[in-house]
Amino acid sequence: MSPKALVIGLGASGRAAAQLLLAEGHDVIGFDSRAEAQPVPGLRACTLGGLTPPDAVYESIDLVLLSPGVPPAPHRAQAARLAPNARITGELDFALGVARRRWPECPTVLITGTNGKSTVTAMLGHVLTETGRRPFVGGNLGVPLSAALLDDAAATPPDALVLECSSYQLETLSDHPVDVAMVLNVSPDHLDRYDDLAHYAATKGRIFRGLRDGGLALTYAPDPRTRIGLPTVARYHQVVVDGPDAPRLHPDGHLEISDGWRVAREAVGLAGRHNAINALFVARAAEQLGVARDACTAALQRFRGLAHRMQYVASHEGIAYYDDSKATNVASVVAMLDGFERPVVLIAGGRAKRGDDLTPIADILRSQGRGLVALGEASDAMMAMAKGVVPTRAVVSMEAAVHAAREMAGPGDAVVLSPACASWDMFDSFAHRGEVFCHSVRAMIGADTGTPSPDTT
Ligand code: ADP
Repeated sequence: MSPKALVIGLGASGRAAAQLLLAEGHDVIGFDSRAEAQPVPGLRACTLGGLTPPDAVYESIDLVLLSPGVPPAPHRAQAARLAPNARITGELDFALGVARRRWPECPTVLITGTNGKSTVTAMLGHVLTETGRRPFVGGNLGVPLSAALLDDAAATPPDALVLECSSYQLETLSDHPVDVAMVLNVSPDHLDRYDDLAHYAATKGRIFRGLRDGGLALTYAPDPRTRIGLPTVARYHQVVVDGPDAPRLHPDGHLEISDGWRVAREAVGLAGRHNAINALFVARAAEQLGVARDACTAALQRFRGLAHRMQYVASHEGIAYYDDSKATNVASVVAMLDGFERPVVLIAGGRAKRGDDLTPIADILRSQGRGLVALGEASDAMMAMAKGVVPTRAVVSMEAAVHAAREMAGPGDAVVLSPACASWDMFDSFAHRGEVFCHSVRAMIGADTGTPSPDTT
């Protein structure tokens, strides 16, 4: 008899997981609390609407697959009551099990952290591709691993898996063999889902569970929370990035990866100290996968970054404009400002997370800031935070924010949209917010120079 699986949550990753379960011979039932969710073809049954599935659905269930976006508590409680022997898994966990069977030789790199996951995942994928490999790059970023496994019959198998992992995905991760696992940083986030910061950090630390003998754990020296969860029996290498004996960023700006392998700061094509740190993680991971040093350095230089993460937009009158719309929490803004090469007029605000402490931004604006432009629901809180620290202005639109920032900035300064908040009070997404910012910058420059903005032609 086929094993019976229940997939909870039919968003992109739940749907891909349901299809993979079907392809693996499971009898699959789906559930989504959204009445308007689309059923997945081939499922034996699909229940839509309600907080949890009807109890009867759990009859003889062997496996419960929780999608990352679903609040787990009610489902775990229901499963414990009705199917106590069922295995609880997630899309990434299940897909890694299938990948291990199908592609046993393929090294696996798992990447997590509060900030920088997508950048590091894409940067490592870029380095591997540029040096002649065919990695699968995805997970929480882009394509779920299950979707890659569904395409497997047609495609050449990848020769490395580079997977961004959110803490939600790590909640259900078991101990699949892993060659490189890294925690980039841990700062307060998602505290509506976890009991406290220690619980959130411990969830991130689950990434180290499957490290193989001789595998590599990468953590970040100034942030001991990145080391929570490291197995105590050390059969793996532990490398502390930015530590004295390890990959580190020197005060003069060059990067030193290991025993004398030095990389000029300019060789990392992305602005901001945090991106130099990201490159250290990438270079050490690439070395573990056998990438030659010179080839890695050359590839790092050609990486252009992801949209809306410190993306250079334009320069005008000596002022450089950057779109960092993906900076949706306080730590990401602090990381951006820390050691940034120019004084910054910061455009910040939006929908703040409950209980956010903005003082770390004020502390760093004191040395790095030229001014603050506040918008959105958090405008008053931003103004209060920066009062007496830098000149402030409150505005009601992105266009007004760009004009106000330009007035505050001088030649040699940067204007950076790095909001420390979610975008949903004024925009559809962080990407939409970033696009409106870029459009406003180009329109302002175009109006000055008589050149039509590329976005308006
Ligand atoms: P994630 O996928 O973890 O959300 P991204 O790579 O999309 O991370 O970057 C999100 C934001 O985090 C960026 O806008 C940038 O400001 C900030 N960031 C990137 N790398 C780091 C880092 N190593 N430490 C702190 N903040 C970072």
